[in-house]
Amino acid sequence: MTDSAVRSNPKYAAEIVQERRVLTEIPGPKSLALHERRLAVVPAGVNSALPAYIERAHGAILVDVDGNQFIDMGAGIGVTTIGHTDHGVVAAASEQLTRLTHAAFTISPYEGYVRVAELLGEHTPGTHAKKTVLQNSGAEAVENGVKIARKYTGRNGVAVLDHAYHGRTSLTMAMTFKAMPYSLGFGPFPGDIYRAPNSYPFHDGLSGADAARRTIAYLEKSVGASDLACLIVEPIQGEGGFQVPAEGYLPALQEWCTANGIVFIADEIQSGMGRTGAYFASEHFGVVPDMVLSAKGIAGGLPLSAITARAEIMDAAHPGGLGGTFGGNPVSCAAAVAVFEEIETFDLLAEARRIEGVLKPALLALQKKYDIIGDVRGIGAMNAIELVQPGTHEPNTAALGALVAFAAQHGVLFLTAGTYGNVLRFLPSLAISDELLKDAMNVLDHAFAAL
Ligand SMILES: *Cc1c(COP(=O)(O)O)cnc(C)c1O
Repeated sequence: MTDSAVRSNPKYAAEIVQERRVLTEIPGPKSLALHERRLAVVPAGVNSALPAYIERAHGAILVDVDGNQFIDMGAGIGVTTIGHTDHGVVAAASEQLTRLTHAAFTISPYEGYVRVAELLGEHTPGTHAKKTVLQNSGAEAVENGVKIARKYTGRNGVAVLDHAYHGRTSLTMAMTFKAMPYSLGFGPFPGDIYRAPNSYPFHDGLSGADAARRTIAYLEKSVGASDLACLIVEPIQGEGGFQVPAEGYLPALQEWCTANGIVFIADEIQSGMGRTGAYFASEHFGVVPDMVLSAKGIAGGLPLSAITARAEIMDAAHPGGLGGTFGGNPVSCAAAVAVFEEIETFDLLAEARRIEGVLKPALLALQKKYDIIGDVRGIGAMNAIELVQPGTHEPNTAALGALVAFAAQHGVLFLTAGTYGNVLRFLPSLAISDELLKDAMNVLDHAFAAL
């Protein structure tokens, strides 16, 4: 374990040794009892991937109510990016909690909000003047991004890509690709949303330039560039299956947006905040988005989201046109400032690259061994494998379920993804040690063998 991987609250570090420990059946008896209570009062619409009830966590380990310790390969869907109960985040948020927990920035402002806006301005791609609005959730950031782009351009059209995921509110579920489970039966949906083919090298085999030509031609024919307010892309797609676009795809889209007065928005809610070894994944593809959306990993586990864009785009919204009661909560802001400090102090971007250095070779070795692994892809601490029927590109959904269930029984929590439910994603916190990663990969190997 590297020193920076164990940088931590000494109290928790002593209490939660960074190792996998399976003491009971999963879920254990206390979890099962809790689950009974839950089923009576929480609707089935809210699911849990693994009903082992978590009591505490530190670093890359989750501890459930039965004392089982799970290697967390999901970080709460990429939220505790710098590690559970990170010392700096816990200290900053605790301190803030005792001074000011809420004031409503639109009523009574406070410094934390301003500081987070400064930090995002510094760390999002591009050196142009930027301004930032803070909200609570990723979906709210997407909603506000669309609002602002529409106001700035005076246009209505919103372009999104195949396999995109942008959230579960009315507007964002309409922007999200996959109907089941996200939007089926939850309509009516807002209009003026146009979906175009993405770049999906494993399936389309297209170069970035050809994939971009296809996307652009589709939008020009089906909508017309002059009707589009914005094009919103995830630089690496998240829930849709961790599609990494072919080289040159995103720059070509950006160029087209710029030439046609369309706001180019990067939804970096999952790929941002150090996840890929850069502050924002856009950097890997050489694009400087007009607007960047952040959430998930920004505040170390507290709810916070952000819209950061060119100052002239943001200033199109009239005074009072943007806001919300909880947006940019002081405790969340204090945690976010601590996240930025921790990334700098402990060079956590390098930790993301270290993780790729362990994960990628392990996954490629598994691919050699198991012919249902069709594709291995990702950057930094954002990786995935796509499961197929051997020798084809057809999805293998059944295998995914079996792998995840096996891993859970053996103390590893994996997340799934993919439009066809056949992608296993690896989204650990940057605090995970090489040893834990290797242990998790070993369990995965056994899970494949047991299929
Ligand atoms: C999670 C996610 C969202 C939605 O964020 P919520 O906080 O769940 O509303 C939007 N876009 C992307 C890319 C995401 O991964």
